[in-house]
Amino acid sequence: MYGIQDSAANPESTNNESNQLDNLRGEVDSIDDGILGLLARRREVARKIAAEKHRAERPFRDDLREEALLIERLSAAGKYELDADLVSRVWEQIMADSLRVQFDYVQNSVNGRKDAVIIAIQGVEGSNSHQAALALTPNMNERELVPCNRFGDAITAVKDGRANIAVLPIENTTSGAIAEVYDLLLDKKVSIVGEVKIHVKHCLVGVPGASIADLKTIHGHPQAVAQCSNFLAELPDVDVVYATDTALSARRIAEVNNPTVGAVANEEAARIYGLDVLESGINNRKSNYTRFVAIAAEPATVDPQVPAKTSLVLSVSNEPGSLAEVLNAFRAEDIPLVKLESRPTINNAWQEMFYMDFEGNVGDRRVQRVLEEVRRHTMYLRVLGTYPSRDLRPHRRPSPEPERVIQVSSPNPQPAEQTTADGPYRLAGRRDGETETVVDVNGVVIGGPELVIIAGPCAVESIDQVMKTAKAVKESGGKLLRGGCFKPRTSPYSFQGLGWEGLDMLAEAGRVYGLPIVTEVTAPEHVERMAEKADVLQIGTRNMQNFALLNEVGRANRPVLLKRGMSASIDEFLQAAEYILAGGNQRVILCERGIRTFETSSRNTLDVTAVPVLRRRSHLPVIVDPSHAAGDRELVAPLALAGAAIGAHGIMVEVHPDPDTAMSDGPQSLTLGAFDDLMQALSDRVL
Ligand code: PEP
Ligand code: MN
Repeated sequence: MYGIQDSAANPESTNNESNQLDNLRGEVDSIDDGILGLLARRREVARKIAAEKHRAERPFRDDLREEALLIERLSAAGKYELDADLVSRVWEQIMADSLRVQFDYVQNSVNGRKDAVIIAIQGVEGSNSHQAALALTPNMNERELVPCNRFGDAITAVKDGRANIAVLPIENTTSGAIAEVYDLLLDKKVSIVGEVKIHVKHCLVGVPGASIADLKTIHGHPQAVAQCSNFLAELPDVDVVYATDTALSARRIAEVNNPTVGAVANEEAARIYGLDVLESGINNRKSNYTRFVAIAAEPATVDPQVPAKTSLVLSVSNEPGSLAEVLNAFRAEDIPLVKLESRPTINNAWQEMFYMDFEGNVGDRRVQRVLEEVRRHTMYLRVLGTYPSRDLRPHRRPSPEPERVIQVSSPNPQPAEQTTADGPYRLAGRRDGETETVVDVNGVVIGGPELVIIAGPCAVESIDQVMKTAKAVKESGGKLLRGGCFKPRTSPYSFQGLGWEGLDMLAEAGRVYGLPIVTEVTAPEHVERMAEKADVLQIGTRNMQNFALLNEVGRANRPVLLKRGMSASIDEFLQAAEYILAGGNQRVILCERGIRTFETSSRNTLDVTAVPVLRRRSHLPVIVDPSHAAGDRELVAPLALAGAAIGAHGIMVEVHPDPDTAMSDGPQSLTLGAFDDLMQALSDRVL
């Protein structure tokens, strides 16, 4: 309206005009303030509505009302001569905010409203992680920050109880998945309890009084610098100094306090460290979002009325089409998958771990049915957590519960309700029509029609002993090499095993003779390290009910050979297997190794009956260990033959090049020759 030229020509009119402009701006400011006040009041009312809906158990989303409301607003827009497009966009935002407020209200009443929270982040105050932490804890009066150097440190802070949650970035719309965080989620015993997406807007900041033209040096995180490369390329003669996070670079330049030194950081960091924003939004791509997750030691419960997302991590079985079966399970229940990411597994480079996010709540029956089906096609499955979804996508009316039967690959599919007994072993127990689980150990299939022989010394004693044994096992047709490195001995004075040194020897023998190795793990804190080298983790009879150990191997990505407790019933045995399956690990092999009876003529009594009973009750493979049942090498072959005859999927025996000098279980160990004889006797069933 007012040309610059005219104003310059007449100073008086310039004054009037600028007064006029100030007045108008003042008017706009007060209108805007009014809008904010109204939005805040609207939120308050929304909260009251939430309380009322929650009390009356009314649904939170009402499609028809939402639609009607929008139509009403649009027709009112005409009255004010407002653009319908503007009004519909503004109202979508307002209604989304209102829903979020309501969901937060319900969530707080579910998980217990807390006023203070300690949050671990990677980085310092003012970082994008800090902003995400604020956004994830909207109702907290007090937030204490635990700044950490590395992502893993933030998770450790949660596990040690020094923080309630860790807030970590998991993916960025420009740079993709943050692999390290995905790997940490797999490793650690933690759950995802929340998510938020943050718009990452980089700014060029400087100390007060600095100007872009004077800058000689710019500090910034390498990713942030890369995301602003176009803008930075326009600045001549400026050196870039890399920092470990954006807020840290802001802090540093505030400390240096030199107008020629700037940083790439966000507005919040500038505010915290008393810096000026010299240029805002300098990223190449304006739409640059990072998704953060909140991680806690325990899983969260999400109210069924709150839209939820669930994250899973799984590895599929080697059968062709397993991944397709997993995806089909979601389709069958009409549950939208919103993310599928894959990462190589840590100790099996050729095997992928899939991370999946879907819309749904683990408390929901339909989701549970999907998980039951998915479990059947996976070697490993763990729910990382259910949490309130921040994606208020256009609402889909929930489809009615499909009455359809879940497709299973067996010839006689049964309705899920009938097949999933809520009995003591939901996962280990056989469901009608279910196929057998086969456990694939580096190509050796346990649980199929053929008998698999596992053999080796009770304990690894020396490289020479284990090499000789491995050679004989291989030549006679054994498929896996066993050997104890950590020996759980009844007497503290007996040989306790060579420990990690023994594991290296066993692994070397296995490598040389092409035999996957089986060894016993006796302590939860050994599992992770053991799983790096052992192909199968054995749980011994004395540890069958060591629940901390069962939980730990349940999280491992290695098959587990679970021995029956010497005084355990079959029911207790299957419940122990249940622990491992519930931990995520689907590759469990059951081993009958003899139980305590009144009979003293053998070390234990081989419960041959257990084999068909286990096979009837469970889908898991069953093997027999005649050595520990017999305690006497003369009895090993007949018991092995009995095991094979009664339907075991495999036999595990102890062999030693010189049993008389064995440091443990010599009397029951077969000589290499006797082992070969046994293999001949079993030959019609051996692979
Ligand atoms: C073993 O297999 O080495 C062993 C110790 O067996 P168990 O746990 O059955 O006694
Ligand atoms: Mn033994």
